[in-house]
Amino acid sequence: MSSFSTPAIVLRRIDYGEYDFVITLFTLRRGKISVIAKSAKKSKKRFSGILELFSILDVVCNVGQRKGLPVLQEAALKYPFFDIRSSTLKTAYASYWAELINEWMESAQRQVQLYQLFQYVLRELDTCRISGAALSILFQIKFMALSGLSPNLSQCSICRIEVEKIKETRVIFDFAKGGILCDGCTSKTLQKPFLSKGIIKQLLWIEKGDLVKAVRVRFTSDALREGLEFLETFVPYHLGKEPKSLKFLRKIRNW
Ligand SMILES: [Zn+2]
Repeated sequence: MSSFSTPAIVLRRIDYGEYDFVITLFTLRRGKISVIAKSAKKSKKRFSGILELFSILDVVCNVGQRKGLPVLQEAALKYPFFDIRSSTLKTAYASYWAELINEWMESAQRQVQLYQLFQYVLRELDTCRISGAALSILFQIKFMALSGLSPNLSQCSICRIEVEKIKETRVIFDFAKGGILCDGCTSKTLQKPFLSKGIIKQLLWIEKGDLVKAVRVRFTSDALREGLEFLETFVPYHLGKEPKSLKFLRKIRNW
């Protein structure tokens, strides 16, 4: 039997039999893994009730020689994020980000930058300095960049003219091509969503800047909505399905 320790964020928790939980963790050192927390369901004392969604823990797990999930041996709470779990809207945003990570990531692949991104947005969401909507724009743009699937917002996907040189203030985004199109390259008969140049600039700024810079971007309420509606279409388009948590988020967000 061997053991390992790592910081980890709780992505998902499901009941397993009468006594146990199976917990999907996004770990710093081993990427996404599922572990079994024995007696955690029955006895609150076993893990002192800290195995909650989005909590950041330091965990120690044992790996047996036979097949089967690693067993959670110890867990210490680093960030509880009470504030996220006490707000339905914040929980909805955090659930959406967790679902994207869970759906997208292959198991046991270390992804330190993505771990840092998720930790960063959870901490900002918990402290209320920045709205869940603005953080969700930041998370989705950075998440797609780390996945190598950034939307092409800097030049026309066909003739490569740069966005600054496009005269129109609203530019068409072609989901199949994954990028913007200038007026000359657009077929007039096709109805496609438009993006204003203002939000394009902000999204590019967020994509290129570090997290501290990116989080300082201030959106008007129109830009916030436009950016979110765009990303919440773009991301599921690449995922190939609409995340369940996104449906819920849309339902409770009061727009
Ligand atoms: Zn063009």
